Amino acid sequence: MKPASFDYVRPKTVAEASVALGRKGVNTAAIAGGQSLIPMLNLRVAFADLLVDLSRLDDLKVVTRSPDSIWIGALTTHAAIEDGKVPDLFNGLLKRVAGQISYRAVRNHGTIGGSVALADPAADWPCCLIALGATVRVVGRNGVRVQPVSEFVRGQYETTLSAGDIVMGFDVPTPSVPTRWGFSKVARKSGAFAQSIAIATALGRSGRVNVVLGAAGPKPRALRTVAEELEGGKSGDELRPAIEADLAQVAPGADDYQKRMHTATVLRAIRDMRTQ
Ligand SMILES: Cc1cc2nc3c(=O)[nH]c(=O)nc-3n(C[C@H](O)[C@H](O)[C@H](O)COP(=O)(O)OP(=O)(O)OC[C@H]3O[C@@H](n4cnc5c(N)ncnc54)[C@H](O)[C@@H]3O)c2cc1C
Repeated sequence: MKPASFDYVRPKTVAEASVALGRKGVNTAAIAGGQSLIPMLNLRVAFADLLVDLSRLDDLKVVTRSPDSIWIGALTTHAAIEDGKVPDLFNGLLKRVAGQISYRAVRNHGTIGGSVALADPAADWPCCLIALGATVRVVGRNGVRVQPVSEFVRGQYETTLSAGDIVMGFDVPTPSVPTRWGFSKVARKSGAFAQSIAIATALGRSGRVNVVLGAAGPKPRALRTVAEELEGGKSGDELRPAIEADLAQVAPGADDYQKRMHTATVLRAIRDMRTQ
């Protein structure tokens, strides 16, 4: 199918893009890599009168390192991260996540900002950025706001973005000691969206543990009981009751098959949690 007709602009500044996106009475959409939006327009499950192409916004392409964090601009592609163009300050976690998203043609165009802005419950970046405690910076008609990614993503394809808002990028705190992490994903075929995805991290000197589960509910959620039990020294099958308790909160509608699948991804991510 072909999309319904739309107008198209390609602004050169964030301010121009924000004005275009916030035009009153016009159904607008930002387009970054187009890897999700174009198929959705083609299938006519999304509509826009005006597409605002962000690809000329150099401010969204910046990647910088500061003593405590790394800034990843929203237009950074999955391929750039896979290829190590973003400094690897998490012992390879970012590369690992990027490299298994879909296939290379999608990764060449798809962006980290587009992935988080879309907020597909099964997407990899929201899960990863929540596990790393990242914040997102948004510029819009009401100025700039910074929010934890865990709060920015509100639910299935739902974020705090409103008309005129643009995701600028993500500030990811860098740990003082090497990150330990584990990643586990179940998908119907290689490169497909997850049916279950779990990322476990231990960050900084405190070794604070995060275990985040995606594709189990409307948004990726931290498994707090599991994290507490891990920090308390439990491991392997000893964690099953904690997983069950957390699943009751984050995936209340899961059937037995889904519960077993989520339990397996969580246990695998924890088992693989090491300085890779
Ligand atoms: C075959 C296939 C398989 C895939 N498999 C996976 C997978 O396994 N895991 C996974 O995580 N993803 C997967 N994806 C999705 C892929 O990662 C997309 O690239 C990503 O979801 C969207 O990024 P994009 O830059 O293409 O965004 P676009 O498609 O351009 O935009 C997506 C949405 O985000 C909005 N948007 C984009 N950028 C911004 C911004 N800076 N500010 C505000 N709003 C913005 C757009 O308006 C739109 O609503 C797959 C895609 C395909 C086609």
